[in-house]
Amino acid sequence: MRILTLDYREAHPWAYRVRSETERTRFRCEGCRISEEYYEGSADVEVQDGAKWTDRIGGDGAGRARLIISDRVLEGLLEYGITGFRAYPVSFSKISSARLRKLSRPNYHILTVEQGIEFEQSFRADIPNEWLCPNCKALKREAPQEYRDFIYNEIQWQRRLTPILNSWSGLDIFRGHNGPAGFYCSEKVLELAHERGWTNFRFNMIDATTRHTAWWAGIDYLSKAWPPERWYPPAPSDGKTMVEWLTLLRSEPYPGPAVESQARKVYEALPDFEEAPVPELWRMVAEGNEDQRKNAATALQWLRRQVGIRLTDDERQRILAVRPDMPPSLLR
Ligand SMILES: [Zn+2]
Repeated sequence: MRILTLDYREAHPWAYRVRSETERTRFRCEGCRISEEYYEGSADVEVQDGAKWTDRIGGDGAGRARLIISDRVLEGLLEYGITGFRAYPVSFSKISSARLRKLSRPNYHILTVEQGIEFEQSFRADIPNEWLCPNCKALKREAPQEYRDFIYNEIQWQRRLTPILNSWSGLDIFRGHNGPAGFYCSEKVLELAHERGWTNFRFNMIDATTRHTAWWAGIDYLSKAWPPERWYPPAPSDGKTMVEWLTLLRSEPYPGPAVESQARKVYEALPDFEEAPVPELWRMVAEGNEDQRKNAATALQWLRRQVGIRLTDDERQRILAVRPDMPPSLLR
């Protein structure tokens, strides 16, 4: 059975304010008293943007932590015997988009979803034990800011965040005990979305690489061909070996940070090889011409961000010496 992420595709219509009947925080761990948001019951929603009413309403904070679905989606979930949620009616006290106000609107429901899978967070081993809760490994409140930043980066880029597949509770819809705030589902839900042609959903394999899914529309659940052709997004490194990518980097002019170019394609591709390109990139920083040095320093910064390679203070200084325009925060 495949496990997938259950996201919205477009962020509009956008639920920017959601008030649930019961909304409070509860302790995620009794040891450190780290809390999580908890809601239950019917909700009132304020919506902005959007040109049509879709089967799922987006929204960050709201949409990410809340699952708002149309009547016909709920009907499907009930017919298929999908488990793991409680559904409550949604009312709309404000709809900012004049276009949306003119259209007839389906009924919507908000789901309360329980935790159902754990993520291995091996990066926590890099934090001294004294700053971690012995029970849940969460960072203690009094921990220094640098560890807070470190964890934020790790979770943001999901560099070392691996789903523990056998920790799955077996429910069809669920959230993580730890890791990114979001929803997950079994393949049954994907099949239902395909069969019924739900709009504005986005599914990815739970273990797909985040930097690959970021610019992908997700598994093509609306395609006629079934099962879908691709379960995972294409990788930026597809089609060339690491040595070929590095050779390309050596021959390309440094494009500057925001320009689409061959060199930029190499920066995107190299993280697929994790730490392997690092020695050659340092050689280029030391021995290359100006373009090569800048390209290599930039590629190292991408590797720092996207796969979490370690940099010593001295190495940070060497990168900044080549790229003095780079914000030092990118190397943290
Ligand atoms: Zn704890």
